[in-house]
Amino acid sequence: MTEKRWPERWQEVNPGCMVFTPGSSQEYHTGSWRAGRKPVWDKSKCIKCGVCYIFCPEGCIFADEEGYFAGDLTYCKGCGICAHECFPEAVTMVNEEG
Ligand code: SF4
Ligand code: SF4
Repeated sequence: MTEKRWPERWQEVNPGCMVFTPGSSQEYHTGSWRAGRKPVWDKSKCIKCGVCYIFCPEGCIFADEEGYFAGDLTYCKGCGICAHECFPEAVTMVNEEG
């Protein structure tokens, strides 16, 4: 029998929608919710301040081996906060194809 991974009826949802299984967020690819726009990083403008990393509500921004920042689009929901907070304007929201 396949292991049950999420509630199928509202009666099975925990009070307050609390999550009791650690690490379960890795299974929820919030990138699939994204509605048309994604962030693009411009290394030539980035000053490596990490502000985008701090403000991302999905925690999906990471620094590469050179110290430049980028987002894991599997978990990016396209909110645009990183672009809004990046004062050197190194992050731009662009339309996605399809
Ligand atoms: S906020 Fe902008 S300048 Fe700062 S690390 Fe992120 S992309 Fe670079
Ligand atoms: S658009 Fe939103 S979710 Fe995606 S990387 Fe930027 S702050 Fe994070």
